[in-house]
Amino acid sequence: ERAVARSREAQADWQALSVATRSRLLARFHDLLIDRAEEAMDLAQFEAGKARSSAFEEVFDVVATTRYYINVAPRLLRERRRSVSFPILTSASELRHPHGVVGFITPWNFPFNLGIGDAIPALLAGNGVVIKPDEKTPFTTLYSVDLLAEAGLPEGLVQVVTGEGEVVGAALVDEVDYVMFTGSTAVGRSVAERAGRRLIGASMELGGKNAAIVLRDADLSVAVPGVARSAFANGGQICVGMERIYVEEPLLDAFTRRFVDYVDGLRLSAAYDFTSDLSSMITTGHAEAVHAHVEDAVGKGASILTGGKPRPDIGPAFYEPTVLVGVDESMALCRTETFGPVVSIYGVASADEAVHAANDSEFGLNHSVWTRDARRGRELAARLQAGTVGVNDGYAATWSAYDAPMGGVKGSGLSRRHGTVGLLKYTEPQTIATQRLLPAFAPPPGMSFDRYVELVRPLLKLARHLPFYK
Ligand code: NAD
Repeated sequence: ERAVARSREAQADWQALSVATRSRLLARFHDLLIDRAEEAMDLAQFEAGKARSSAFEEVFDVVATTRYYINVAPRLLRERRRSVSFPILTSASELRHPHGVVGFITPWNFPFNLGIGDAIPALLAGNGVVIKPDEKTPFTTLYSVDLLAEAGLPEGLVQVVTGEGEVVGAALVDEVDYVMFTGSTAVGRSVAERAGRRLIGASMELGGKNAAIVLRDADLSVAVPGVARSAFANGGQICVGMERIYVEEPLLDAFTRRFVDYVDGLRLSAAYDFTSDLSSMITTGHAEAVHAHVEDAVGKGASILTGGKPRPDIGPAFYEPTVLVGVDESMALCRTETFGPVVSIYGVASADEAVHAANDSEFGLNHSVWTRDARRGRELAARLQAGTVGVNDGYAATWSAYDAPMGGVKGSGLSRRHGTVGLLKYTEPQTIATQRLLPAFAPPPGMSFDRYVELVRPLLKLARHLPFYK
């Protein structure tokens, strides 16, 4: 309560600054972060057991998100004239006000970009911000708030409250004016319900069970490393990562052979440099949960082609990149998100069968299509029920297209980050319309309503064709 109150106090003055001034201050944060990138990557590695490549993605993303929004915010937030039904008589404009204080509840897997990265557009829109990072990863958020202070943001505007989700997260939803939640679908539902009771807006970025569709004409030199990257990035602890691979049967054997060879060559290490291809699991408990998924599948008849073991010799929570075949509906990892370095390969007779299988899921976050025919890839992509789909890329292309919205459908979420919506969702639109000379939707003084309707009826028919209304 006190954190939200403090942020609210600072927010009043922050909102009064011009968007250009707010952008200038955040541009300083942008430059500071580039200067401190090594330190920020060290911290992301230290805190979450990340491979450095994943720490790099985090830092790059915060920088690029900030750059995108400081450039577009002044245009998106300015007052806009809107067309009206009664030209000359009415003029209307749309204003964008900040909600007030926005609450962020963030997960441990990308604590930097899903914490401060998502908060940047909320700040640019004039809001105060209170972040509740996951209890396992508070440090990158605290670090980035220090950088924001160094960049000159007003004291108190950005608050961090660390602690358990059920206690702090729930309390935060009860105090703020809008909630941005990133995490599991189960918790997301409870947060959305709580926000719903208060009738405040909420953006939900939730889980996935993403599918890679490898068509028979795929270029294996692209598909094999590409699918592997999206399955094992951050040790598979990435919401947009691939956990299911559907391969058209003519290519199934060749793909599987080369994929397993490639995965066998992935490097595991806890070094503070770019020599590791995989991150550690966040905790030993999570490594055990991942292993339980694999054991359940193997116990019910699936086969491990590579991996399948914890690697405490590398770090307490490391787990091998694992490839399975023979997975069926009786096994937990068939439909449930594993959120680890575990992927299953399925053969399919046709692209249609693959699309059907990919869509047959409670989730709809991010899929991918691998083919030499990019046009066909895009056509199939449009038939997939997912907020984003990559063609010949697993997640980095869609993620880094900052001007385009990113998020999930079905159990994977509500609303989007990135793009216009990723800023405007942090605002409340207000329409101000000024009427002059004659009333709107009513006859002028002295004219009967019957006569007015008679006059208006042919005009309404004509209006549809007038350029003014198009
Ligand atoms: P989680 O839902 O357990 O926790 C997320 C956050 O919610 C944490 O800060 C936690 O403390 C808090 N929390 C827990 N219970 C709460 C409650 N009752 N009320 C309010 N807050 C509460 O998720 P996680 O395990 O940290 O993250 C992994 C999940 O997040 C995966 O399902 C993954 O797919 C998803 N995820 C989604 C995206 C996306 O953009 N769609 C990105 C990253 C992770």
